Amino acid sequence: MPGPTQALIDELHLKYAGLREGSAATYIPELAKASTEHFGIVVAGVDGSLIAAGDTEVLFSLQSTSKPLTYGLVLEDFGREFVLSKVGVEPTGEAFNSIVELEKHTHRPYNPMINSGAIAVSSLIRGASAEARLQRVLGLFEGYAGRPLAYDKKIFESEKNTAHRNRSIAHLLRHFSVIGDDIDDSLDLYFQQCSILANTRDLALIAATLAGGGINPRTGKRAVQEKYVGDILSLMFTCGMYDSSGEWAYSVGIPAKSGVSGAIFGVVPGKLGIAVFSPPIDEKGHSLRGMAVFKELSQRLNLSIFRHL
Ligand code: GLN
Repeated sequence: MPGPTQALIDELHLKYAGLREGSAATYIPELAKASTEHFGIVVAGVDGSLIAAGDTEVLFSLQSTSKPLTYGLVLEDFGREFVLSKVGVEPTGEAFNSIVELEKHTHRPYNPMINSGAIAVSSLIRGASAEARLQRVLGLFEGYAGRPLAYDKKIFESEKNTAHRNRSIAHLLRHFSVIGDDIDDSLDLYFQQCSILANTRDLALIAATLAGGGINPRTGKRAVQEKYVGDILSLMFTCGMYDSSGEWAYSVGIPAKSGVSGAIFGVVPGKLGIAVFSPPIDEKGHSLRGMAVFKELSQRLNLSIFRHL
């Protein structure tokens, strides 16, 4: 496999900066303020090398790119069997915020990458108080990114005050006893994890940590047990891009997760973490420049996990 070079990343940045489709998410009012011009690409090797182009220091909220990480945390807290009893591992072919997301007989959310599954996951995070749980989540993200990250109170409030759909999902989860009575606490923690601020470099290091079996390539510290990395990556692969996951597997072929802030990260196991940030998204919530960069990068460098033979 040819390695990524600065020239290639610069070329893709220049080429796709001209892509002018899509607009920033508006259903969380604070996200609508994002600049449609912002565009950063970072490729991080499992050896700690970094190649960056564009606005890689601009901070954005992680939104759904946070979901694979909290899933790993509850796997560590409770083990596979218990977590599987609460949240399934099947793709839905539905949007991330679908309300028809509970399995027919078990009433589990289909998977932890969609909102219902991620809210259920947040409700499981251990801690003596809401503050203790939040600190655990922030500590988790610090482990992956290799530096302390904070959440944005404005984005948090903005989502919390307008989250009628997620609130209805949470009540449905409570109805079927997937979550307990602490509905508001579970939602708050979910909105807080979604509003954690990071830049494209942080997100590439999060990806490279997963690529390296759970060890941050810069700090050398473990962020998640190696035995759960495969669980996280398989769910990113089948469900991370929601109802585009099949098309993504076909055209890009690496586990990835998107967020409505315009972030996408992808993991080439054993090799690379890739992150792209640019706010204009399509109707499914994926960054348009992000998808274009991933597609071309995968083709040019033969990154698909099915093309290494
Ligand atoms: N916080 C957002 C929500 O729940 C995350 C969605 C996303 O990034 N796809 O709607």
